[in-house]
Parts: sequence; C-alpha cells; structure tokens
Amino acid sequence: MIPIDGKLLAQEMKQEITATVASLLDKGKNAPHLAVVIAGDDGASLTYVESIKKNTKEVGMLCSAYQFSASISEKELLEAIDFINNDDEIDGCIVQLPLPKHIDKQKVVQKINPKKDVDCFHPENMGKLVLGEECFLPATPHAVMELLKRYEIETIGKNCVVVGRSNIVGKPLALLLVQNSPYADATVTICHSKTQNLKEVCAQADVLLVAIGKPEFITADYVKKDAVVIDVGIHRIEDKTSEKGYKICGDVKFDEVSKKCKAITPVPGGVGSVTMTCLLKNTLKAVISD
Ligand code: NAP
Repeated sequence: MIPIDGKLLAQEMKQEITATVASLLDKGKNAPHLAVVIAGDDGASLTYVESIKKNTKEVGMLCSAYQFSASISEKELLEAIDFINNDDEIDGCIVQLPLPKHIDKQKVVQKINPKKDVDCFHPENMGKLVLGEECFLPATPHAVMELLKRYEIETIGKNCVVVGRSNIVGKPLALLLVQNSPYADATVTICHSKTQNLKEVCAQADVLLVAIGKPEFITADYVKKDAVVIDVGIHRIEDKTSEKGYKICGDVKFDEVSKKCKAITPVPGGVGSVTMTCLLKNTLKAVISD
C-alpha cells in the first residue's frame, strides 16, 4: 500500500508559490493580498482563519481578516464585500461559512467579485467549472486533483466513485474528474444519502473518493482490492487510549482499508494538508491572471 503524502506535496507547492511571490516582489509588484470575511465566532472558522494568516505569511502574501460579530446585518456585510471588491490592493476574497442564520448566504456569495472569488463560490465560477473553462478551482477538490497528479494515479476511463454531493466538495470533485483532461477523463458515479446499495457501488470503484462527513464510515467491505482511496473527511473523535483523549480521523476506517487498497490518503496528512496550499495558489492566480 502506498500512503499518499499530502504534507509533502503541500511543502513542494508552497516552495513554488514562495518563489513566484518573491519574483513578483523583485519586479516591484505588491505581495498578493487575500481578504477573509468572517461573521460570528464559529470555532472551526476561527481556527481556519488563523491557519490562513499563518500560511499566507509563510509564502510572503498578505492577509486581512474582516471579522464581524454575529449580529452584523446582511446590508452591512454586503457593504463590506463591496468595499473589498473595490479595493485594488486586495486580490482575493473568501467568506467563511457558516454565516449567521439571518444572512442570505447566496446573496453574500454572489456579491463577491468573480475575479477575486478564490474559493470558487460565485455562480459565474461554478458555471465555468461545469463548462470546463479556465477558472478558480475550489480548494478541496483541487487538492484531490493535485494529489492524483502528483502520485500519477491513472483515472482515464476508470471507475471513480465520489461519495458525497456537497457544493464545496463532492459535486465539484465529480465535475473535475469527468472533464476531458489529463488525470480526469474518468467514468464518474456520485453517491449520496439516498443512494441504494452504497456498499456495492463503492466496491466497483477503481478510485473511491469519500466526502461524507461521518467518522470512519467506509470500512474494508466498501473497497475493491487494490483500489485507490481518497479520504476527504476530517473529524476529531474521542479516543481514551490517546493522551489527548481524542484522535483525528477521516471518513474511512484507515487501519482496515489500508490493508486492502493500493494507495490511500491518511487523515491527518492527506487532502487537508493540500487544501490550504490550493487556496494560496488561487490567490496567486488572481494576481497573475489580472
Ligand atoms: P456535507 O455538506 O455534510 O455533505 C456530506 C455529503 O455526504 C452529502 O451529500 C450527504 O448526502 C452525503 N452523505 C451523508 N451520509 C451519507 C451516507 N450514509 N451515505 C451516503 N452519502 C451520505 O459535507 P462536506 O462539506 O462535503 O464535507 C465532507 C467531509 O469532508 C467532512 O468530514 C468535512 O469536515 C470534510 N472536509 C474536508 C476538507 C479538507 O480540506 N480536507 C474540506 C472540506 C470538508 P445528502 O446530500 O443526501 O445529504
């Protein structure tokens, strides 16, 4: 079994991004600048924003966090996005989800200037993704595609089964796999909570890509022998045997599945490690393609 090392790939990609940022600065250009909008105090969002700040700094980019209380009105939030859209010093903008319940997520997403939409949330960018046109790729599906490419995992004509159909992971991932392009060109099946005979469908997969959001749901009996398994899930679950009292795991039961498959992404250290780097790559793309 080959472990697919996301940390190593992220390191390599970050080195390339750092070098490109340095060459922009050498030419007298500004450092790429990412704005992160957050409303409320969702713990996971705040942790992610801190990680964005750290990572942007490491590659020489700038990051401005626009942090608002959960009581911000929709109008005020839309005005903040407008301000970011009109600020020529800012290249990319992401809005952390979830937003407070009284705010219409779609209105906010549609307010982002598509040229700064480095998370690929705007319908214009999603539309381009469907058409296979040049656009920002959503970070997590992009990370999966980078891992497939880096590890030369053949998908052409292969049976790829994606479990999960969320707008940020499952759906765009399936779209990327079905494109007529290298490391895609797959025959794709998308599964969700209403799929019948999920185990049998998964067991047909040459490449099984899992984004369900359920800890260790996929066991060895869902996996064909010598399949490639990509685990997008990430969870913190109780583990009395560990000193910390918890462990980080994915949607796949790694210990048993890894004995049966040809290659697998671990959690942590797999897809998640590359996702952040893909966001940095998109921020750079916003500058270069401007
Ligand atoms: P989500 O929005 O909750 O979507 C989960 C999907 O799984 C839904 O389409 C759901 O089907 C499907 N599903 C749930 N239970 C199922 C079952 N028993 N059988 C078949 N399908 C089932 O989750 P998400 O945002 O896509 O995230 C998925 C996982 O990836 C989570 O663990 C999340 O933390 C992780 N994640 C990781 C990264 C990263 O960078 N590594 C980034 C984003 C998310 P329905 O549509 O029918 O409800």
